Amino acid sequence: MLALALVVAVLQQSPPTPLPPQVGDTSPFRRLVLPTPGLVREGSGRPGPRYWQQRADYTIRATLDTARHSLRGDETIRYGNNSPDTLRYVWLQLDQNLFADGSRSEALNPPGTRFAGGGFVGGYTIDYVRAVRRTGSQTVRRVSLGTTTNGTVMRVDLDEPLPPGGVLSLEIAYAFQIPEHGGDRMGREQFPGGWLYELAQWYPRLAVYDDVRGWNTEQYLGQGEFYLEYGDFDVALTVPASFLVAATGTLLNPVAVLTPTQRARLATALKSDTTVPIVAKAEVGQSFTRPRSSRLSPTLTWRFSAKNVRDFAWAAAPNFIWDASGWQGVLVQSFYPPEANADWARSTEFARHSIKHYSEKWFRYPYPTAINVAGPVGGMEYPMIVFCSHRSGGLGLFGVTTHELGHEWFPMIVGSNERLYMWQDEGFNTFMNIYSTRAFFPDVSFDRERGNAQAWAQFVRSGRDEPPMLPADRVDPPLLGQIEYNKPATGLYLLRHYVLADTTRFDAAFREYIRRWAFKHPTPADFFRTMEDGLGEDLSWFWRGWFYRTDVIDQAVDSVRARNDSSGTTALVYLASPGGLPMPVDLRLTLANGAVETVRLPVEIWYRGNRYAYARRVAADPVKVEIDPGMNLPDVRRENNVWVKQ
Ligand SMILES: [Zn+2]
Repeated sequence: MLALALVVAVLQQSPPTPLPPQVGDTSPFRRLVLPTPGLVREGSGRPGPRYWQQRADYTIRATLDTARHSLRGDETIRYGNNSPDTLRYVWLQLDQNLFADGSRSEALNPPGTRFAGGGFVGGYTIDYVRAVRRTGSQTVRRVSLGTTTNGTVMRVDLDEPLPPGGVLSLEIAYAFQIPEHGGDRMGREQFPGGWLYELAQWYPRLAVYDDVRGWNTEQYLGQGEFYLEYGDFDVALTVPASFLVAATGTLLNPVAVLTPTQRARLATALKSDTTVPIVAKAEVGQSFTRPRSSRLSPTLTWRFSAKNVRDFAWAAAPNFIWDASGWQGVLVQSFYPPEANADWARSTEFARHSIKHYSEKWFRYPYPTAINVAGPVGGMEYPMIVFCSHRSGGLGLFGVTTHELGHEWFPMIVGSNERLYMWQDEGFNTFMNIYSTRAFFPDVSFDRERGNAQAWAQFVRSGRDEPPMLPADRVDPPLLGQIEYNKPATGLYLLRHYVLADTTRFDAAFREYIRRWAFKHPTPADFFRTMEDGLGEDLSWFWRGWFYRTDVIDQAVDSVRARNDSSGTTALVYLASPGGLPMPVDLRLTLANGAVETVRLPVEIWYRGNRYAYARRVAADPVKVEIDPGMNLPDVRRENNVWVKQ
């Protein structure tokens, strides 16, 4: 009885009042969460007063064995610990281990694919790793160090901890077989005049230790390029006496390896706006193209010095045509075999335009030379030297040359982590290439060029878009060009020309990013913050939607009404933005009296939701309203962009 009374009492109670909605800020305009700023990396996006960066200087001696297609070298790395940490081990990048039997890359990238080794089995043989210790002023002791290899990285355990401010001297001897197809980064190819070698990612390189991640030990899997410390290089390369060598840096011993004629031609070229032959096509392979000393020895040693670079690469062949020109003290050079596409005769002209254009528009080229080498590698960049396919010609050769040389700015000058944030170099470079190409071909229209909003919208409609923030090796290879090159480039183009619609303001901020982070290691947050700092805009919504996500732009005119009263006519335009990425709205209204009016509504119209009613005093009833009539936006559904009075 008691139980029944309770049940009745409960049933007689009125239902509980529902709780009000409990929500967080899920707006596309909420602040982007970036790492907490500090004195190392500031909230303004600039390197702070406590910014530090490690330094790695290299002295390398290497010998190219053209009979065995192998390379043997030894190197001394002077590693300066500028971090506040005591290091008990260091990590090295061993990129040749990409080609080792059973490598991780082999599982990810099958043998026939671009970033694999074509079935070649190689990898490093490390003869020794040792520390150089000075016990007295004269006495030098060499201590063999223990190592642990993990795929393409190797940990070296130090015999003595390396304190903050300390300098470690490491000696390493190594050898490897040179693949023909080295993951489209390096390799060799046989021409009628002999083998042409492109040597890159070829010596054990110190990994980056930074404040963001400690040791950056991302594996080299193929698609992700590299991330290295800055330093000075002193490199001695021993090759057959008949060979010419092109390399990062300044040639230190031209008297020993060049003829007096070649040295005179180089001096002329340095002051010439137009291309000067150093070894003309008719001279290729002739004995008089090699110096007298080459008759005394089967090999010659070429010595190069490079300052403040993050890597060193080179090429060697007995059959190079060699030409050069100069721009403001920069020696612009091309090396290509006679069998290369005939358009390679214009390579130096393309290269000179690129160096000059990027220097004048963004940041002065800081190095003494810029070299384009024709060979088996399709297109790859290293400090002061790039490799482009000898098969490239015409617009394709211009495109690959201006792209690879654009990499001198990103990531050679601005040293971001390519394996984690490929868009930060490929995307920014592709963006710069748009203007370099237009400047060289002012009369050619590039409808489908990178940065084109409608071409991008078409790709997005395929449903295959991915966030550029994905690490390079996680992007589906056929989509790499779209996701890590075209998307960030199109994003910056959109920002510069449409969102800000102020190229001067954009350019100043972008230049400031380069200036602040030249020869340093910026993260994505440092870029986003620097741009917002310089532009005076909170662009959280844009960075998130474009770089971190695959949010789409879809603006729509839902309906239009005209309200007539004693004060006149008001057009009420009901707009919607059902896509995840808001954008400013460009509207064009056509009125019954034939007048056409345009208006730009700021992105803030979407602050309170994805619907917005725009009211405008007009002289006559609207008969047509269009969104984005200039086709500037990659709007994925253009069919809802137009309203026409029925
Ligand atoms: Zn590139």
